[in-house]
Amino acid sequence: MSNPIVKCTVDQCTHYMPGDQCMAAKISVYNDEMEGNSAKSADTQCKAFHHRKTVGDMIGALHNANVGGSVSAAFLEGTQITPAVECFVNECKFWDNGNYCGADQIHVTGTNASKTTDTDCETFKKK
Ligand code: SF4
Ligand code: SF4
Repeated sequence: MSNPIVKCTVDQCTHYMPGDQCMAAKISVYNDEMEGNSAKSADTQCKAFHHRKTVGDMIGALHNANVGGSVSAAFLEGTQITPAVECFVNECKFWDNGNYCGADQIHVTGTNASKTTDTDCETFKKK
């Protein structure tokens, strides 16, 4: 199963870590359903985004936290911490059956994001 390295610059998210890392155990990338058929990168979004200013964001973050041995080991070894990626954007050329992302690395963006739809997978490329 593929698992791209996730680089994320959405520093408003509870899962964001300096160094453009994502500390979530798993993220899901979706399409904005509004327009239907043809996706652009601006229509993709990270469903695991959790605005750090909302009430209860600690609870939300803890439900999906990459905690425990893997994180501390990764810190000690200086390896990249990266979540599992599940993607439902089948118009993307990196998309694979089983909702996998076949890219080596994805870049999640969203300047001043306050909600899920403010985030994008910039790596999206139309088939
Ligand atoms: S927006 Fe998505 S990829 Fe970025 S830190 Fe949050 S959960 Fe991770
Ligand atoms: S690069 Fe494509 S397949 Fe991978 S997460 Fe982004 S939209 Fe999904």
